[in-house]
Amino acid sequence: MGTYVCRKCGKKFESKTLTDGFCHECLAEFLDKYHLVREYLWEHPGSNASEISKACEVSVHQVMEWVREDRFMLTNDSKVFIYCEVCGAKITSGRLCERCSKVEAREQKSKDAVRRAKAKAEERQGVAVAKYDGDDGKMRFL
Ligand SMILES: [Zn+2]
Ligand SMILES: [Zn+2]
Repeated sequence: MGTYVCRKCGKKFESKTLTDGFCHECLAEFLDKYHLVREYLWEHPGSNASEISKACEVSVHQVMEWVREDRFMLTNDSKVFIYCEVCGAKITSGRLCERCSKVEAREQKSKDAVRRAKAKAEERQGVAVAKYDGDDGKMRFL
């Protein structure tokens, strides 16, 4: 049992399980939206973040956050890729290529400027459901 501060509404809440940092009300809303987006993407793979945002009434920022959390991945056939923030290699999800994420685990450096610049390009990028989605144990409380 631990006490956390909800990352959406800022309310304090207690939880035994991993809730992704949301209180119970916000988590329910979050999962609702997440599943809505997932279903939308099954039917419309390759939709970009602003299309998803309109269709599912979630923010572009939220969609891109899910991509960075590896819940969704960018599609390979699109012209815009996301790039590893360190070496610039093309990647389809997350922030770093496999090699650099190992390095980053050792030396945590702030790369906010790079991240902001890349974020603009990512928002025009198509998004699809990641194949390994849901196998990370994060959704087990469902
Ligand atoms: Zn909340
Ligand atoms: Zn890299």
